Amino acid sequence: MAHKFKYGFKAEAERYTEEFRGELNLEPHAPLCPRKLADHLEVPIFGIKTNSCLPPEIPNYWATHPDDPFSGLIISDGSYKEIHHNDFSHPRRQNSDLAHELAHIILGHNMDVPVKENGERAYDRNIEEEAKWFGATLLLPKKATVFMVMNSYSRPQIESEYQVSWQLYQYRVGVTDAVRASKNIRRKNVA
Ligand SMILES: [Zn+2]
Repeated sequence: MAHKFKYGFKAEAERYTEEFRGELNLEPHAPLCPRKLADHLEVPIFGIKTNSCLPPEIPNYWATHPDDPFSGLIISDGSYKEIHHNDFSHPRRQNSDLAHELAHIILGHNMDVPVKENGERAYDRNIEEEAKWFGATLLLPKKATVFMVMNSYSRPQIESEYQVSWQLYQYRVGVTDAVRASKNIRRKNVA
């Protein structure tokens, strides 16, 4: 069943993502690099591959367990936040992981929850659903998704220009109703 978000949440996510693109001098439909956004928000990102603070068993474990779901987590100290993520993953997967963690920070989610044995935090479901939605919106706002549908973007174009997975694109096309939106825009332009 689809998650029920608080009223206005999805529109707010679209507004935020357009605002951030503006601050980064990007068009509303342009690709957004989550590393550039993190830099803009002054959130340092650390990969686990070469993090000298971690005992070697940790990177060794993630290097050899590609199917394990660890993606990233946030370490916070008051208003200071940093992201630690799994940089053994595919670069496009890393982008969606980083967008997800940035979403937690932008939405001001309380990160002060226990860490589970696998390194993930035991967030409540609403917080996770919000970060999932918001992170996907950061990478593929409705305007970008409709733009790509209207311009018949191919899978390789989507993957290389936007650095997102085909699955994420299809998900956003579905939840934003991008096909219908692009038809409506075409109809208006013809009329
Ligand atoms: Zn999360």
